[in-house]
Amino acid sequence: MTHPRDQIVETARSIYSRGLTHGSTGNLSVRSGDRIFITPTGSSLGTVQPDEIAEIDPDGTAITQCKPSKEAFIHAAILRIRPELGAVVHTHSTYATAVSCLPGLHPDSTLPPLTVYFEMRVGSLPLVPRFRPGDTTMTATIEKLAATNAAMLLQNHGPVAAGTTLQSALDTIEEIEHTAHIFLLTQAHSGRTTATIKDNR
Ligand code: ZN
Repeated sequence: MTHPRDQIVETARSIYSRGLTHGSTGNLSVRSGDRIFITPTGSSLGTVQPDEIAEIDPDGTAITQCKPSKEAFIHAAILRIRPELGAVVHTHSTYATAVSCLPGLHPDSTLPPLTVYFEMRVGSLPLVPRFRPGDTTMTATIEKLAATNAAMLLQNHGPVAAGTTLQSALDTIEEIEHTAHIFLLTQAHSGRTTATIKDNR
């Protein structure tokens, strides 16, 4: 079986090469026994190497020299609450992040189930209120949402998804991104329709 470090690097490359993240944003984790392997702070998913992957305990504390992502506490919180899940992916992907910046989002459901695939894979996508990167006071909020949701949207920030495997978590992130894109396209269309009706009056 592929080592978690190699799984993370392989998936990181896939995320980066398809434009689902930029700069040094985005982080991935895989649980293995009582430890969690996670991408390090300040590294690009396009160039991170297996020996740079950090390790944390279930509380989110680093257990090796490599410094984990500032967002490691989010991964640890979700994997603590959901022992049946084994991986978490977080991105700042464009369309989902654009939705996370919209005013008036419903706290329990930030995206409508526009496609059956979104309904099947994601279900509801609750909102985590805006917080500063690394603000661990959000841990209780994330734990509460993770108990009943495998994915959530961080306000003015981006999506987080958990799965039994890294591939499953990434599939969910991509479904969210796809649905967010469709949502924004259809919103733009309905806006234009409204304008046309007004113009014709
Ligand atoms: Zn982030």
